[in-house]
This record gives sequence, C-alpha cells and structure tokens, in this order.
Amino acid sequence: MSVTPNTSSSRDYDVVIVGGGAAGTAAALTLARYTGLRIALLEKRLFDDYRAGETVSSSIFSMLDFLGVGRDLLDGAQLPAFSHAAAWGSAELTSREAVFSSHGHGLHLDRRQYDAILLDQARLADVALLRPAQLVRLEHGDPWRLRVASEGQETDLTARYLIDCSGKQAVIVRQRKRPIHTEDSLVALYAYYQLDAPQFLPHRTLVETTQHGWYYAAPLPGDRVALAFITDADILKRLRLKEAAPWREAGMGTRHVGDILARLPAPSAVRHYAIHSRVASLPADENWTAAGDAAACFDPISSLGIGQAMASGIHAARVAEAFLAGDRGMAAGYRRSVFAAFETYLQMRRGFYGAEQRWREAPFWQRRSAS
Ligand SMILES: Cc1cc2nc3c(=O)[nH]c(=O)nc-3n(C[C@H](O)[C@H](O)[C@H](O)COP(=O)(O)OP(=O)(O)OC[C@H]3O[C@@H](n4cnc5c(N)ncnc54)[C@H](O)[C@@H]3O)c2cc1C
Repeated sequence: MSVTPNTSSSRDYDVVIVGGGAAGTAAALTLARYTGLRIALLEKRLFDDYRAGETVSSSIFSMLDFLGVGRDLLDGAQLPAFSHAAAWGSAELTSREAVFSSHGHGLHLDRRQYDAILLDQARLADVALLRPAQLVRLEHGDPWRLRVASEGQETDLTARYLIDCSGKQAVIVRQRKRPIHTEDSLVALYAYYQLDAPQFLPHRTLVETTQHGWYYAAPLPGDRVALAFITDADILKRLRLKEAAPWREAGMGTRHVGDILARLPAPSAVRHYAIHSRVASLPADENWTAAGDAAACFDPISSLGIGQAMASGIHAARVAEAFLAGDRGMAAGYRRSVFAAFETYLQMRRGFYGAEQRWREAPFWQRRSAS
C-alpha cells in the first residue's frame, strides 16, 4: 500500500475521499491547495486497465488551472479534439470544427494516464494517498470510522467528513441508503484498438445513429482508437450484440462507422459498460456528500461526465470545508445544484435525441422523446 503521510503521522483525517477518478482528484486538490485540512484519498485500483470516458470540452482547462495542474503535465495523455462529425438526423455527415469556435478545442484523453497524473498531483500536494485500498468497514458517526485493506494489511482511519467519489459504485450513497433516481438503462459496448503507427487512425470524433442507438468513434493518444455502440440494455440483449463478431458485423452495416471498422482489425473482445442516467438525493445536514458519477451520471452524448465530475468534486470540497467550519447551508445549496444540473441535462438530452426523427417509431428513440 502506498501511504504518503501528512505532517502528522496519525490516521485521523479531516476529510477522506473515496475514489481517485476525475471527481476525487478535483476534490482532493481543491482541499489540499486552498485549505489547511488533513486529507486522505482511497483508490482501490492501480489503473492498469483501460478506463472509459475520453472526450472532453475545453471547459476542463479553467478547472485544471484552478487545481494547479499545468497543461504541460498532460503531454502524452491527450490529443486535441479539433473536429467532430455527426450523421445525426440525416445520413449525411455534418462537421463542426473547433477552430471556428470561441471556446477552442476539447481533448481526447488517455483516461488511465490522465487520472494517474491527477492522483500524483494530489499526492505531491500532501494528500495521503492509499492505493490500492479496499474499504473493509465503514461506520457512520462523528467521526466516521473506516477500515481499509491492502495487500493483506488492515488499517483504521477516522474522518470528520467523507466525500463519496467512488463513481457508479456510489459506495457511501448506497451505504446511507439515499434515494437514487434512474432515468434509463443505457449501455455502451466498446472496442479499443491499439494500432501500430503509421496505420490508419480516424482524425476526428464521429457519431452516427441507427434505429437501435448510436455509434461513436474517437482517436486516442498513443495510436489508439475507441469505437462504441450505445443502446438500451434490453435492445442489446435482443440483438445479441454482446460478442465481438456480431458487434462488428452490425457496425459494418453502417455507412460512416462501417468505413472505419472496415479499416480496423476485428476486435478480440468488446467491453460492456452500464451508463444509465441517474441522480442521487444527497444529504443536506450530514457529515458526508458525493461528487461525480456517485452523485449524478449522464448520457455520453452530452460529453458532460468528466467536466461535471471535476466541477462537482471542486464544489463538494467547498461543502466539506464549510461543514467543518460550522456552516451547514452550503450542503443544501450543493444538493439543489446537483438536481438543477441534472434537470438541465435532461432538457439537453431531449434536444439531442429530438433532432433525430428518422427512427421515431423505434423503441430506443421513442423512449427518449417521450421522457
Ligand atoms: C463507456 C463510457 C463512456 C464515457 N464517455 C465519456 C465522454 O466521452 N466524455 C465524458 O466527459 N465522460 C464520459 N463518460 C463519463 C465519465 O467517464 C465519468 O462521468 C467520469 O469518469 C466520472 O468521474 P468520477 O470520478 O465520478 O468516477 P470514476 O472516474 O469512475 O472514478 C471513481 C473511482 O473510484 C474508485 N472506487 C470505486 N469504489 C471504490 C472503493 N470502494 N474504494 C476506493 N476506491 C473506489 C474507482 O476505482 C475509480 O477509480 C463515459 C463513461 C463511460 C462508462
């Protein structure tokens, strides 16, 4: 277990953050850079496998500046996303070039590297990083009591405040039995390709609809490509697309993604992710909160996931700081803002799906126009 001690060697912390993804690292860096609180972060994985979620808008740049993470640190973990093309609402592709946007270009990230860089920045900012660490026991109280296991050793920690940044697992949200509203049963089937340069690489993000859902292709740093099909869990089951061969065959039947697939080798496997849109009801008066996917998850068509996770991690850090200083009002405001962001997202989602009228009668599209 790698444990970087704070100035005191005690395992009593002001804030413990569970999960070291986009939300957890943003919360940890905010607290480390802007408060004098003692912070620990638990991450159960070593990031030795692919991590999903890769396309972000330019909105993350100002947050990285706030977190004190220089953009040069991301070299090798990012590719500029200059161009986006979509066959959405029509069989023809419509392109959007970032060079004509006042917001500038977004990024395609190698999430494994990106998350590791941010975790390392948190460690260097004096956050006690426990990794790989499993939560064995979690007892609510003031303080919280945690038992953490790693490589056969168990350690006891206390925390005056907890931030649940454990992603979809939402370990504390579930442990505290908070209500979770789930909006759909969206799933993604991803194939990742590692190509030997100078093989073919798509140069832009591509999205294309079918009556059963939509395809997504994006270049990734390090001569890699991500190609995904997004649909509902029941449709996936009915179409039997879980295996690599039928998944590829269905994709080859599309006009634009089919062109890309034809130039890529057959994938050995496809990865299955549940990406249901959902929002949790967070407490307004307890010594914990949640951020990122643990608080709210979004359809990847919105490209909101990573940016919202970082923004909510920063916000949750402020809530923790205020709570520990005796101000309970901020938690109520944060709880409302999570719901408000989800409402705005649902309207945006309706707009996206409403722009595709060709498959109006198909269940996938009908469900989204009706919701
Ligand atoms: C298939 C797919 C495609 C996506 N595409 C995009 C996209 O193009 N653009 C975009 O912006 N977003 C996208 N997203 C969403 C984006 O990846 C997430 O919104 C974002 O990663 C959320 O960050 P997070 O920190 O909340 O959760 P995560 O990044 O999931 O991090 C949670 C961390 O908590 C750790 N953890 C969990 N349980 C425990 C525990 N008990 N103890 C310790 N650690 C624990 C996990 O190991 C993990 O590292 C996509 C998601 C998926 C699944």
